[in-house]
Amino acid sequence: MPLHLKIEAEANYVALTRIGKKTWIKDKEEDPAQFEKKAVGWTNHPATGLEEERISTIPEFHRLVGHNIYSDGSKSEQGVGSAFCEFDHSNTLSHTWQAKLHPRNSVFQAELIGILEAAKHAAITTNTTKIWSDSLSSLQALQDPKTNSPIARQIQQILLKSPNITLGWIKAHVGHEGNEKADELAKEVITQADTPIVEAPFPRSWAKKELQNQAMALWQQQWDNEKFGRSTHKVLPKVSLKTCNWPRQVTQYVTEHGPFPYYLHRFGKHRDPFCACGEEGTPYHYAVHCPLTSSFHFREPGAQHREAWNKSLVSHPLLRDKIVRLVNFLSHNEELIKSQTN
Ligand SMILES: [Zn+2]
Repeated sequence: MPLHLKIEAEANYVALTRIGKKTWIKDKEEDPAQFEKKAVGWTNHPATGLEEERISTIPEFHRLVGHNIYSDGSKSEQGVGSAFCEFDHSNTLSHTWQAKLHPRNSVFQAELIGILEAAKHAAITTNTTKIWSDSLSSLQALQDPKTNSPIARQIQQILLKSPNITLGWIKAHVGHEGNEKADELAKEVITQADTPIVEAPFPRSWAKKELQNQAMALWQQQWDNEKFGRSTHKVLPKVSLKTCNWPRQVTQYVTEHGPFPYYLHRFGKHRDPFCACGEEGTPYHYAVHCPLTSSFHFREPGAQHREAWNKSLVSHPLLRDKIVRLVNFLSHNEELIKSQTN
């Protein structure tokens, strides 16, 4: 991405999430107070932290003799939901909780909020309780005494005060009744139109992504209206953060920056833009017209197919190889193809 756009996006992100300044994203002024603050330092003094065995990330499910709670979070096009369900010591469904979150909230937050509510629920009792989550990243955040997530820290505090609660990892979509139920509840609440949205600070990742999208849109606009790089625009009309990985010769052909009299002239390395055959020495000239390169020629595309042809040159391996050979020939015979003095 062009540096000026990247810097702008980065500066806006820092202003909103660290300096706490109101910042415009797309057409809306965003209030920093609505965003989750990054937690720093240790949650607790290392000596009084959680014992390792309180949170297990071994993928082994053993229903606890006692209460088992299954929590889950879900995010789709329609929205974000969080839920848990509790099965008592006789494995009977004894309690459920569901909440719809804001579409900006992340699935990671939804998972953690499910665990948080489950922990709050279990903390008011002395029942031996195990909370099962299929979110490994949530459990790992909870194991981390320096986690950045404020929600994870709230859960850690509850666990410290409530020794009756342990946590475990349950694999998703393998048919565990409790996990399936929690998943169903989290998905169900998303589509309930009348359910109010539970407020949770927006994740900073949302701002980061939106600012990135905004920068990409601006980049596209500038790329479409730019004066330079038009030959490249024909091949790569859409901006992207992916690298093309073209051979050097293909880059030279597409950008027209290579051993072509037309280019050499523009950059003051030859006195005129002409090929030895008398025509303008552009890459296209050598690919389809010039008698000096006839053994490297492509069949000339019709005017209406020119765009598709340009794109196929870089996407088809065989055509790409042919371009490589053509450009190699031109660079080895630069003196031959340039218009001759006198
Ligand atoms: Zn020529």
